[in-house]
Amino acid sequence: MESHLPLKVLLAAPRSFCAGVTRAIQIVEACLERYGAPIYVRHAIVHNEHVLREMEAKGVIFVEELSEVPDGVPVVFSAHGVPPSVVNAAKERELPTIDATCPLVARVHQEAVRHHKAGCQVLVIGKKNHPEIIGLLGHLPTKDCQVIDDIEAARNIQIPIHQPVAYVTQTTLSVEDTGQIVEVLRKRFPKLIEPRKETICYATTNRQQATRTIASGAEALLVLGSPTSSNSTRLTEVARQVGCQRVRLVPEPDELNLAWLDDVNVLGLTAGASAPEYLVQRLLDRLALRRTLVIEEVPVTEEKIQFRLPLERFPKIPQMPVSRPSIKSQHSQAGFHRSKSIALSQELHLA
Ligand code: SF4
Repeated sequence: MESHLPLKVLLAAPRSFCAGVTRAIQIVEACLERYGAPIYVRHAIVHNEHVLREMEAKGVIFVEELSEVPDGVPVVFSAHGVPPSVVNAAKERELPTIDATCPLVARVHQEAVRHHKAGCQVLVIGKKNHPEIIGLLGHLPTKDCQVIDDIEAARNIQIPIHQPVAYVTQTTLSVEDTGQIVEVLRKRFPKLIEPRKETICYATTNRQQATRTIASGAEALLVLGSPTSSNSTRLTEVARQVGCQRVRLVPEPDELNLAWLDDVNVLGLTAGASAPEYLVQRLLDRLALRRTLVIEEVPVTEEKIQFRLPLERFPKIPQMPVSRPSIKSQHSQAGFHRSKSIALSQELHLA
């Protein structure tokens, strides 16, 4: 039943797309523009079902293995990064490739390789099966790296005697949980070599801080994002850690049962780094059908980081071997504002 009672909404800021996700999406859009559909993408370009479905409508085909990509067709590597074995396999098949790995993920790869070259055992703090960790591990010999996925693993890890120890992290981990793991490692290995720059990325850190801030004053909290999204899932955990126990991850605003919020007076709302901002607006529109909204945006910091598109690294493809639907008709179904985003991207700077 529609009550139209007031509902205060604390809106986290920053929220939604980070610079790496924006860049990855723009890379695929630029590929569609340059090469025409279909474009193949190895793995979900970003972990958001909504984004993927919109891209599929434009002619993007997502695959898990290069063997699913026909010869001669461009393939984009997702924002999570790939192991060198995948790059090499693509080279062997002479597949035109475009790398949408987030520059901050690539920086972690470089950091890990640098430690390995210095003779360190590299401890990789992260989730074993996450594509970012799979991509990172591919840059290191198995004997010289170990994954630490929780505090217990940090307590029990064994390192060859006299070998120096360094660590890096997945970019989308909980800042607090990772801090506890690092504390254990520092105690166990007093000469532990730290990353030169923080390897949990700025977007993860900021979204967690913003969520923590709104969650402490909210009776319930919604995180827009997919269950496959590491950073979105971490936001639900952060909210619970500060005492907000009524927390939901919402992949699709239309699927939320609004009755769940009938006895709530103050709601926190945020979106993971791979969830489009228009989902936030769509959810607010739905809430407004049932409640009188009083929206308060709560900014904790301003984000200015933007990444340039690597247009100069897009391969030249003389002749495409497959039939290519008109890009115009593909884009007529599009939810993204392609021309605007590409124009913008040419002004961007690598952070
Ligand atoms: S969450 Fe961080 S590492 Fe991941 S794509 Fe965004 S900016 Fe890059």
